[in-house]
Amino acid sequence: MYQLIVKLFPICRSITGNGVRETLRLIKKHIPLNIIEVPSGTKVFDWTIPDEWNITDAYIIDQTGHRIIDFKNNNLHVVGYSIPVDCYISLTELQEHLYSLENQPNAIPYVTSYYSKRWGFCLSHHQRTRLKEGRYHCVINSELKPGQLTYGEYIIPGKTDKEILISTYICHPSMANDQLSGPTVVTYLAKWLAKEQRKYTYRIIFIPETIGSITYLSRHIHKLKKNVIAGFNVMNVGDERTYSFVASRYGDSLADKVIVKVLTSKQCHVVKYSYLDSASDERQFCSPGVDLPVVSFSRSREYPEYHTSLDNLSLVTPRGLSESLAILIDCVKLLEMNNKYKVMCLCEPQLGKRGLYPTLSTKKSRETVRNMMNFIRYADGKNDLIDISNITQTPVKELCPIITRLMEAKLIEIYE
Ligand code: ZN
Repeated sequence: MYQLIVKLFPICRSITGNGVRETLRLIKKHIPLNIIEVPSGTKVFDWTIPDEWNITDAYIIDQTGHRIIDFKNNNLHVVGYSIPVDCYISLTELQEHLYSLENQPNAIPYVTSYYSKRWGFCLSHHQRTRLKEGRYHCVINSELKPGQLTYGEYIIPGKTDKEILISTYICHPSMANDQLSGPTVVTYLAKWLAKEQRKYTYRIIFIPETIGSITYLSRHIHKLKKNVIAGFNVMNVGDERTYSFVASRYGDSLADKVIVKVLTSKQCHVVKYSYLDSASDERQFCSPGVDLPVVSFSRSREYPEYHTSLDNLSLVTPRGLSESLAILIDCVKLLEMNNKYKVMCLCEPQLGKRGLYPTLSTKKSRETVRNMMNFIRYADGKNDLIDISNITQTPVKELCPIITRLMEAKLIEIYE
């Protein structure tokens, strides 16, 4: 996964353009992505797909002839969606087009202006304070014209039409945690999912943030509303600092239940954000009327390097990535076995005649019988595996062998 991030890192991505295409092309080497393009100007709910933006070069040359800012050194130097420019201006005029962070003087900030036409350069505050009076030659070789919005989709059919939605982003330039960690972990999750036939169908999408999810929803909302039973928006999953998630709008969906169960079972540090804190595509997926059962899963959501050049390849680690992948795999495994169960006889079943009651009573065997009895007590067709685990305070992994034995003994049935 880390090697894939290294490959994707230098590409200059935005919400449209060749950077997105190149990113999807590299991901397609791993999984059979379907790449879809939607023309600029297309109405998508309350939005319109903007013109496509591409850039080949950008720089500022001072009056001594030095290239003091060069897009080729770092693509964060250019404000995303900058219109083309080639002009000579004074330092005072230039300052109007510069963006830096006073409180992070060594960081180049990530700035975009998708929906109002402007141009600008981003630089470290340290460099900015050293700029001298004089004339500056500013060049941005960009192109903003009708084109396409590009996204990738991979659907892995399951035994049922019911779907799990996995969504991630491919629209930021060279930053590692936000956001290359997301598509990378999701690519490897998709590879794992495709290894065997699953119960659910998995719909995996690689989209530009906001306009991409709105576009996708506008094209598929009816099918998604009909079939999606849980969804995960995956972002910022490459560091090792913490785990976090943003709840769905009412925090009561199956995806909420699953992510809480998996993260709490890890006994690791977890930050829970409410939907009121949502800043990403959970806004779209859970918006009124859309109401998909989707949560966002992240490691650090708020961190000092966020949206700056400090979010680089040293912030994400192979361990951070693989731990995140493991969480998502656990979510899938839990979803796949999270059935509702119903006991098949009235009153307490006689375990002994089915060989389910130990002939030798030890501490361990008493505990197993207690867990089995507790499971049966709540296997009334109303509770799924997660509910019963929560009610009985028994870990899922201890309930699974009990379910197998009770199913074999024909004492419980799956109740949908
Ligand atoms: Zn971001």
